[in-house]
This record gives sequence, C-alpha cells and structure tokens, in this order.
Amino acid sequence: MARFHAFTWATFIDSSSRTDDEEPSTSVTKNLKKVVKRKYDEDYIKYGFSWCGDETAPRPQCIICGDQPSNESMLPSKLKRHLYSSHPSCANKDKQYFKRCLEQNKKKQKKFMKSAVTVTEKAFEASYHVAKLIARQKTPHTVGETLTKPACMEIVRLMLGQNEVKEMNKVSLSADTVKRRIHDMSSDILGTLINKLLSADN
Ligand SMILES: [Zn+2]
Repeated sequence: MARFHAFTWATFIDSSSRTDDEEPSTSVTKNLKKVVKRKYDEDYIKYGFSWCGDETAPRPQCIICGDQPSNESMLPSKLKRHLYSSHPSCANKDKQYFKRCLEQNKKKQKKFMKSAVTVTEKAFEASYHVAKLIARQKTPHTVGETLTKPACMEIVRLMLGQNEVKEMNKVSLSADTVKRRIHDMSSDILGTLINKLLSADN
C-alpha cells in the first residue's frame, strides 16, 4: 500500500512538476464549470418563466405548463425556445399576461394546499374517532382494516361518489394505526386522571 502510494505520488509530481497543494488544471476547470449557478432575472417573465427551488441555484419554471428544467437552462435563448416550441399561442403575449398567469397559479396552489391540509387533519381526527369505537367494542384492532374501512368506502362510493372515496381512503385504519391511536388516547386519559387526583389531594 505504502509503495503504491509513493509510486503514484512520484508519478504525479514528475508529470506535473507542480507543488503539493496544486491540483491538475483539468480538475480546476471542471470545478469551475460545476460552480456556475445561473440566477433568475425578473425580465425572464417575458418568456413565460418564473423560478423555483433553491434561491442560490434556482430552476426556471414555466408559468404555462409548470415544466422545471435544470438551472443550466436559465438562459434567455433556452427559455425563449421552450416558449416558442411548446406554447406558440403564448409567444406574443406581454409581461403583464404572464404576471397575471403567475398570480392565478399562486392563488390556485394556495387554495389546493389549504384544502390538502384540511383533508389530512380531518383524516387524522377521523382515525381517532374510529379507534375509540373499536376500543369500546373490545373487538380486535384489525377490524378497522378488514371491515370498518371497506364498509365505509362502499357506503361513500354508493352515496357520494368515486372522488369522495379517494378522500375517505386517506383515513388510516390499519391495525397498527388503531393500536397506536388507542394507546395515545389511554395515555392521555391516564395523564388527565393523575393530574385530577394530584390537584384533588391539595
Ligand atoms: Zn411550458
């Protein structure tokens, strides 16, 4: 190992005749190429592009189709090419048009995020309520995934529709989840009881 190291080191010094801490020039060029990070220019909105991702190396984001090419594509020529080839009907639109589209996209996204959070929260709460029912019936925890959920999904599908079934599907009722929920609730009850007993003592 030591001999191998001495050999490569000697060869390196021989072939480059440089000092120890210098790197071969090819590697320096490569590093410089890697370091180039293109910035977003406010003016790129005229090509229908906004930006997303890391602020230090942003990726262009097409306002029309949402496409997100790499940071290397943050060049007027490339952005313009995308606009003309993918969205020729928007090629002659002005900055104001794209700004309006961008605003609308942001509003839509906000609305979507809000509804997604609400559904997740509701699904979370629902799984606690069902776990409580399962615990009260003293039935095995698996009943959630083998009967309760399939039954609920059938009812929702027939009475409300397929989209609602997708929402319903977000409620986790697996045996593990039911077990965890019951455990959470019983520790919470125990905690409350201990607190009450302690305050009653005083
Ligand atoms: Zn596009």
